[in-house]
Amino acid sequence: MTLTTHAVLGAVIGQATGSPFWAFFGGFASHLLIDMIPHGDSGLSDNFRIHKQKQGRAVAYVAVDAIFSILFVLFLANTRDIESLRTFTWGIIGGVLPDLMVGVYVITKTPLLKWFNWVHFFFHDFFLKRRGDVPLYYALLAQIVLIAYLQTKL
Ligand SMILES: [Zn+2]
Repeated sequence: MTLTTHAVLGAVIGQATGSPFWAFFGGFASHLLIDMIPHGDSGLSDNFRIHKQKQGRAVAYVAVDAIFSILFVLFLANTRDIESLRTFTWGIIGGVLPDLMVGVYVITKTPLLKWFNWVHFFFHDFFLKRRGDVPLYYALLAQIVLIAYLQTKL
């Protein structure tokens, strides 16, 4: 999923929990679970891993995704009366942290994160491997609809 989807879902779950610890835990768990829905990014990760000449496109996608998610979270924080900035924040941290851990693993190949990389892709590829992926265009449209719905819950 896009980082914006993970961040907004984490924020909504975080607020619902009412505690920073459960906000983080709920955001983190929500990342792994929602990533199980095929969301059109297998072509991008293949571009990164296998077709080296298309790596630039995958990197650009991640950069756009990351910057857009920051702007959207700032937009939410500045247009809503966030009940608890702490649960909002910890939900978002839990929601996006798994992809940071995977990114750090891809860059460093550190054995400290090898297990987590496996866990992340166990969930991420669970239905993808059995049923195949969906077109990225549809997956992004579906996420826009989901984000539009979720932001009403903040
Ligand atoms: Zn992920």
